[in-house]
Amino acid sequence: MDVSVKNCKECGHLFQYPGFGDRICPDCKKIEDRAFQRVKDFLYDYPGATLYITAETCEVAPERIRKWLREERLQFVEITGTGLSCDHCGKPLTSGRFCADCKYRFALAAGTAREYTEEAQEKAEKEKETNSGAKMFFLGRNRRGR
Ligand SMILES: [Zn+2]
Ligand SMILES: [Zn+2]
Repeated sequence: MDVSVKNCKECGHLFQYPGFGDRICPDCKKIEDRAFQRVKDFLYDYPGATLYITAETCEVAPERIRKWLREERLQFVEITGTGLSCDHCGKPLTSGRFCADCKYRFALAAGTAREYTEEAQEKAEKEKETNSGAKMFFLGRNRRGR
């Protein structure tokens, strides 16, 4: 196993980095997991909360919530005002790094198009159910189990 000692990017302490995932130590990871749990619980009770209300109520930095959005652990319900855009074509996004069209194109190139189409449709359905503001809800982590 390729384990190396690194500085935690949150607190700066040395820790054994397993070679994948965020470069943060187990202590900071625990703090982050708890923060994520708070956000998740809050969004479960208030599914339409905006990023800033959520950040303030849960005492979590907006940048951190934005990071979770990028990782698709959270998702905006509504596309306007999210400040997220597709890394490939610049289209506004509710979560993640690439829009459904670009993902589909990448998937076509990789020969896994069907999987992505279903995912995109599911996402479009969810987005239809909404109406105003840059709202968020919790995204389950059981999609396309990796
Ligand atoms: Zn740390
Ligand atoms: Zn795109």
